[in-house]
Amino acid sequence: MTSDTLRTPGAVGVGVGPFNLSLAALLAPTGFDARFFERSANFQWHPGLLLPEATLQVSYLKDLVTLVDPTSQYSFVAFLRAHKRLYRFINRTESRVSRLEFNQYLQWVAERLPNVVFGAEVREVRLAEDRFSVQVDDRTLHTRNVVLGTGLVPNIEPWSRPYLGNEVFHSDEFLRHPIDATGRVIAVVGGGQSGAEVVWHLLLDIAHLPSQLVWISHRANFLPLDESPFTNELFNPAYSDYFFSLAPDQREILLSEQRLASDGISPVLLQRIYDRLYDLEFLEPAGRNVRLLPGHEVIGMQHGSAGCDLTLRDRWGAPRRIRADVIVLGTGYHYELPDALQPLASRLTWDRDGFPVRADFSVEWDGPPEVRIYAQDAARHMRGVADPNLSLMAWRSAIIANSLLGRQVYEVNGESSVFDFDATRN
Ligand SMILES: Cc1cc2nc3c(=O)[nH]c(=O)nc-3n(C[C@H](O)[C@H](O)[C@H](O)COP(=O)(O)OP(=O)(O)OC[C@H]3O[C@@H](n4cnc5c(N)ncnc54)[C@H](O)[C@@H]3O)c2cc1C
Repeated sequence: MTSDTLRTPGAVGVGVGPFNLSLAALLAPTGFDARFFERSANFQWHPGLLLPEATLQVSYLKDLVTLVDPTSQYSFVAFLRAHKRLYRFINRTESRVSRLEFNQYLQWVAERLPNVVFGAEVREVRLAEDRFSVQVDDRTLHTRNVVLGTGLVPNIEPWSRPYLGNEVFHSDEFLRHPIDATGRVIAVVGGGQSGAEVVWHLLLDIAHLPSQLVWISHRANFLPLDESPFTNELFNPAYSDYFFSLAPDQREILLSEQRLASDGISPVLLQRIYDRLYDLEFLEPAGRNVRLLPGHEVIGMQHGSAGCDLTLRDRWGAPRRIRADVIVLGTGYHYELPDALQPLASRLTWDRDGFPVRADFSVEWDGPPEVRIYAQDAARHMRGVADPNLSLMAWRSAIIANSLLGRQVYEVNGESSVFDFDATRN
């Protein structure tokens, strides 16, 4: 490859999480010249929450490639086969894959792909006449296509912002702040999957149990993720296309109705936590030093010499105070335009919910039409609850790959659906 082609790839990917890794894996066999840059030294899937007991929330067939190319050398099954553990995997009783193993798989693919570069941060993307000028550390590349795969950003509530550090941190950083919980009061804020995983992790460590664990959620209860078959249909390509065909206010209604299809706690984990609380309370000498506070919202916080005081308000307006030594914020994530794209920010059409994406996941902007920005993980408001999930990862990557290649290399249409929606209304 000449130094000129190295500097003018057909596409530049910003960030290599699972979503851009999937696109890199689909583009690699086509010969399309793309370069994907990741600032971390190697592939890590949400390393701050890579808890040993955490499991994948979807089928392992929803890997980087299988749903659009079951013959790919980059599938999860190919990974098992390469590691001579396919029979052992089948013989296990646990049907869910652990996140540690899925991370191993993703790392294995990342090491094999010729088009991903680690330890390289995309600093700035500018328009230079009819192409982008992309600064990657101290190099400059030129390309007509940029694919954003920078993921979501943790939600940090204003009341916690001044106190962020080793005692107050988002769950996304949980393992980066090793805490000895022994004898301390730990508050976990958030009744979604991340908060539940942190609670479960703390309750498992019998040698280092907190003197008290407080679990706070603004929801009325610790509610399950809806994993029933008709709800799982929301994670199919046909439903994503149907959702895309709706008007913005219609999409907004559906998103609020479908919240528990994506934001609840996996029923298996809820059961495990419930059973663990039972054992602690009735069968184990440690006792159950856990306070569960669903239906409570944190509205303020003060940091004193002896820990933090959280001010809560319950559903009916009654105030309450909690003192904690450590506060873990399981408060979810949102999309943000990456800093590197700031030079182009005013040229993107950004509405209340995010930027509009077209059917091929390219972003609407006022630059030359042949110079395109694609966005992964940025279209929940246009594609529905499946957008931030692994379920449609391979399908979306295939659509972007086809668009970059200018021809249909991957079949992306016609997958069956149980529903009879008309997705051709627009
Ligand atoms: C703990 C956790 C568990 C999850 N488990 C599941 C699950 O089981 N099933 C499911 O369907 N979904 C799951 N999800 C949701 C979703 O699949 C993941 O969030 C997924 O990692 C999203 O992939 P991504 O590629 O968009 O972003 P990320 O994984 O966040 O990766 C983005 C990458 O971009 C890099 N980056 C950012 N800016 C730059 C830059 N300027 N230059 C270079 N690199 C940059 C970052 O370092 C990062 O590595 C989970 C989410 C979380 C938080």
